[in-house]
Amino acid sequence: MVTIEEALRIIEDQKISLKSELKPLEEALGFALATETIAPFDVPEFDNSAMDGYALCGLYQEYQLVGEIAAGDSKDVELQDGKAVRIFTGAKVPQNSTAVMMQEKTSVTDSTLFLDEMPKVGQNIRKKGGQLTEGQTVFEKGHFLNPPSLALMGSLGLSQLEVFSKPQINIITTGNELVKPGEPKTEGQIYESNSYAISGALRQFGFKHHQKTQIQDDFEATKAGIKTVLESCDVLIISGGISVGDYDFVKQSLEENGVNELFYKVFQKPGKPLYFGRKENQFVFALPGNPASSLTCFYIYVLPLLQRLSGYQKTGLTTYQFPIRHAFENRFGRPSFLKAAVVDGRVEILDGQGSSMIQSMAKGNALAFLDDGETLKEGDLIRCKLISQ
Ligand code: AMP
Ligand code: MG
Repeated sequence: MVTIEEALRIIEDQKISLKSELKPLEEALGFALATETIAPFDVPEFDNSAMDGYALCGLYQEYQLVGEIAAGDSKDVELQDGKAVRIFTGAKVPQNSTAVMMQEKTSVTDSTLFLDEMPKVGQNIRKKGGQLTEGQTVFEKGHFLNPPSLALMGSLGLSQLEVFSKPQINIITTGNELVKPGEPKTEGQIYESNSYAISGALRQFGFKHHQKTQIQDDFEATKAGIKTVLESCDVLIISGGISVGDYDFVKQSLEENGVNELFYKVFQKPGKPLYFGRKENQFVFALPGNPASSLTCFYIYVLPLLQRLSGYQKTGLTTYQFPIRHAFENRFGRPSFLKAAVVDGRVEILDGQGSSMIQSMAKGNALAFLDDGETLKEGDLIRCKLISQ
């Protein structure tokens, strides 16, 4: 048995090798850059107007209007002192422009432009290189591509990005009692639900599973099933069959398939019978079958490894501290991840903390953490990881 910290450290300390691939810009969201990005040109590439209005030459309150420049126009205009042109947002400002005055502060009679106030030098002109200069590092290797990053890459004209590949993930569910939702079941059977939570949580964080396999509680079937599924993944996530029951065959089957145990059992609630192992460059998590245990272990242990295997610099869910709405004592006898709801910045520990109770987890949005025996008064800060809206 290891502590939570030890388990997390073992996962973090795994030596990994990253692969990279070219992704079209449209599909690069959620990937990490595999190379540094250098600005191929200045951004903006030319001085341009920040407003719909008038580009002015010299500082006056009256100008003679001499033309018009729209966004995208490429003509090279040179303004003379005392002259102005009609200009629109994003249009290239003429050479010698002193400022742009927004149209709301102007009036025009015939071809004379009158300003309501004196212009200021450089006003409303977005300068060439104001955001980036040619040759500058735009993003370091490993940068996480969020939507604004995609916009910036697009504005640099880049249609393909070299990103770190994401791991191929397979899921196995185990249990004779499990029936697929939608199919008929008999007394003693239950519907299989963990794989939906896991595949949903994968998608929530930009991952997806490649294959999902259901295996009966039989040693030979488990061993053979794991062998086949291991052939096509970097990370295998197994649910159930890892505890100490007579029908729990996962651990032994992993051993027989050459998977080396890195830890088994974590001093925590829920999710004590969590297993983590490795076979060369493949990783295996065997999550306890109880639905809340399995999903909690996914968020705390599986997610950070998936993110690291994707080249992310920052991995795992952020821990926040919020005041608790009510006094609470952790009497579970182990450090605990508690199903919680964070509402208006305050935390409620929800009823229904049992390992099998997924309903409270579904209604909440956070996992709150308390050490064994830790006692909090109303308003004390409690550590939380947000897992949902
Ligand atoms: P196990 O870890 O296999 O001993 O399972 C622990 C509990 O979780 C049992 O009550 C199982 O019926 C339940 N369970 C296991 N796997 C699943 C699953 N995929 N979906 C829903 N419940 C499950
Ligand atoms: Mg089972």
